[in-house]
Amino acid sequence: MRTLLLPLLLATATPALAQSATPSKAMQAAHASIAADYEQVIAEVIELTEIPAPPFRETARGARMAEKFKALGLTDVHVDAVGNVIGTRPGVDRTAKALMVAAHLDTVFPPDVAIKVRREGNTLHAPGIGDTTVTLAALLAFNRALTAAKITPARDIIFVANVGEEGQGDLRGVRHLFSASPLKARIGDFISFDGSNVARIVNGGVGSRRYRVAFKGPGGHSYGAFGIVNPMAAMAGTVQGLYKIIPPTDVKTTFAASTIAGGTSVNSIPNLILAEFDMRSASTTNLKALEAQFLQIITDSVAAENAARDTRYGKISAVPELIGDRPAGTTPESDPLVQAAARVLKAGGYDAELMPSSTDSNIPISLGIPAITLGAGGGGFRAHALDEYVNVERVAFVKGITTAFDIVVQAAAIKR
Ligand SMILES: [Zn+2]
Repeated sequence: MRTLLLPLLLATATPALAQSATPSKAMQAAHASIAADYEQVIAEVIELTEIPAPPFRETARGARMAEKFKALGLTDVHVDAVGNVIGTRPGVDRTAKALMVAAHLDTVFPPDVAIKVRREGNTLHAPGIGDTTVTLAALLAFNRALTAAKITPARDIIFVANVGEEGQGDLRGVRHLFSASPLKARIGDFISFDGSNVARIVNGGVGSRRYRVAFKGPGGHSYGAFGIVNPMAAMAGTVQGLYKIIPPTDVKTTFAASTIAGGTSVNSIPNLILAEFDMRSASTTNLKALEAQFLQIITDSVAAENAARDTRYGKISAVPELIGDRPAGTTPESDPLVQAAARVLKAGGYDAELMPSSTDSNIPISLGIPAITLGAGGGGFRAHALDEYVNVERVAFVKGITTAFDIVVQAAAIKR
């Protein structure tokens, strides 16, 4: 996933250093609010983490976020058609396109995983805590800070606790926001806070195309029907052909033959083999080219097997089914949104890096809408594992939330 680390180049013309060296009175008040808010943020991280939110079952956690959005005074708080929880912080210019700030509700853990947060010194342990309940709580802290410091953002900020980021969800929450949602036309920029690690800016969307391929044939007795076509041979040909591809290296492009199932017994020629394949790249061009090659390899492997063996009882066929589709793209490093985040991180002493990943930002990025994915907090470890934990040591944690807050304020000031 996170593989390509690029040195971050700041546009030198921005007068940002002076700006960040001396925060305004209002920003100082906001920072003081975040520092004083520490225990409440921790309490909300624990509370939200302990409301399970498996894929497609985010409703309870979403309902709690909606209550909190309302209590914080966000306007037009509602749950949309797919379960995204949305609330607006009105800005000075209400007609300008809005900044959307999101964090996902869902975790990767199934409903039978009991979730109880364990606090040990400066760490909080629980599945899903760093990915990404810390940032759900950060969205709430941002709002308390804006209120405490009486800051009205330059334009509307639409806060979202969205569904469906993780694997099977296939980005359905954010996909909806940028397709069928009535909000679509209002969004000028998008920031997803995902994960607790602050010093990285995801500006590239690693796209993926995933297939389950059903290789079918007549099947038969392993001894009695010897000589007939075998779908496993066509599948093997496909895997061999795929692994002969040398992928382009201008933008990292990958493939994997990843799961396999099928067959009836050891003494049978199978009638069905199912195999799954994953292809990824942050380059749409590379991904499309790889996919076209892959589909051709399937056709060729099937033809080769039908030519190599007896088809009197039937031929081999293959049906590729698309089971995953995440679009690719990049928000340019020169974009004001990337630059705002880079500036704030640099001023905070973070060694920020740009990287591509597969996140909710893939959707707006692929549509040409500036989007980045950031972290907020003191650091997250072992994401997607049962022994996941986050660092909540006060100084680092408060600094991580404050930095994320500053990026939101600066991003809201971008004129689109
Ligand atoms: Zn996540």
